[in-house]
Amino acid sequence: MCPQKADIRDAIKANIGQITLDGLKRNRRAHDTPQGPVIRFNNKNLINFCSNDYLGLANHPALITAMKQGVDQYGVGAGASQLVCGYTTAHEKLEERVSAFTGRQRAIIFSSGYLANLSIVNTLLDRADMVLGDRLNHASMIDAARMSRAGFKRYWHVDTDALRNLLQAPGAGKKLVMTDGVFSMDGDIAPIPDLFRVCAEMNAWLAVDDAHGFGVLGESGGGTVQHYGLSAQEVPILMGTFGKALGTAGAFIAGDEDVIEQFIQSARTLIYSTALPPALAFATVRALDLINEEKWRREHLYALINRFKKGARELGLSITGSDTAIQPLLTGAAEKAVELSRQLLEKGFNVVAIRPPTVPNGTSRLRITLTAAHSEAQVDQLLDVLSVLG
Ligand SMILES: *Cc1c(COP(=O)(O)O)cnc(C)c1O
Repeated sequence: MCPQKADIRDAIKANIGQITLDGLKRNRRAHDTPQGPVIRFNNKNLINFCSNDYLGLANHPALITAMKQGVDQYGVGAGASQLVCGYTTAHEKLEERVSAFTGRQRAIIFSSGYLANLSIVNTLLDRADMVLGDRLNHASMIDAARMSRAGFKRYWHVDTDALRNLLQAPGAGKKLVMTDGVFSMDGDIAPIPDLFRVCAEMNAWLAVDDAHGFGVLGESGGGTVQHYGLSAQEVPILMGTFGKALGTAGAFIAGDEDVIEQFIQSARTLIYSTALPPALAFATVRALDLINEEKWRREHLYALINRFKKGARELGLSITGSDTAIQPLLTGAAEKAVELSRQLLEKGFNVVAIRPPTVPNGTSRLRITLTAAHSEAQVDQLLDVLSVLG
């Protein structure tokens, strides 16, 4: 007799049953308003504190106009991958603007940050090689390493000594260290200069995923590398996304001529995927202009961050000391985060609970994010309700 075969439907049922029991079931809520400080669910307005639209550009009138102009000029879909016939002058212009903005020789556009990260590992490394990643790196970098042929090791969060030890392990292969610039769930800024020093010492390359720093950090919004003043020599692979501070969608990798040429020649998530809609590239160029033209957005965002931190400290809330727009409120237990999020919803605030596996066990949290579109009054309202809910 052949043994009972595993059944996919049984496995699904068991899995959903288990995550429901564990309080880890995730639910989506559809809203019918633009991204902004107030969004509407089921005819109820909610003050929104979980968007990554850090500069409040996603619904900016100038960006909407640019998107429409882009559609008028280029139509809607790109029609093919960049290497076939999906590459337009809008993509080209955006690449030039991103290179200038980040102080790199060249940049290349991907349809998403997730796809860009997959290609970073697959394009640069092979079987004998090794990826080293911070334990709190974004899932897309973890997946990139796991889906590649390279080996993969993780070091304790921002622990450069642990990284050095891992890099000392014998092995002839190439080594790539990957880190978030700003950690997506904790909001702390990676110690990139220290990481670079270890990489230089151990002949490894450093790749920085600046999804949460690009457009926000640095003198002119150039991101984490501008914040620290790091060149393409020090951070040869710089990745950033357009779906967060820039208010559009898509991502880039920036670096020197040779590095970017290598991606054009062999990045599979670029070659085998339809190009970003050209109107989005067109609108993203406008978003880069807006970052320069409306510096007040970053200034206002930083004023709100300070206001929130000061208020939260006075209330004795368990914030982490993050200096960025990401201000996690740790609850520890997943149920507690979910319950707090539910109570906030009742009071008219949208703040999602972040639970395992997105964050390590026992570190569930409310991930509060501030944006330039919030008012001081809205931040004060959030603090008021948090003081009541404890
Ligand atoms: C959001 C995010 C990504 C993925 O970018 P998408 O363009 O949304 O696919 C990658 N890395 C980090 C750190 C992120 O926060």
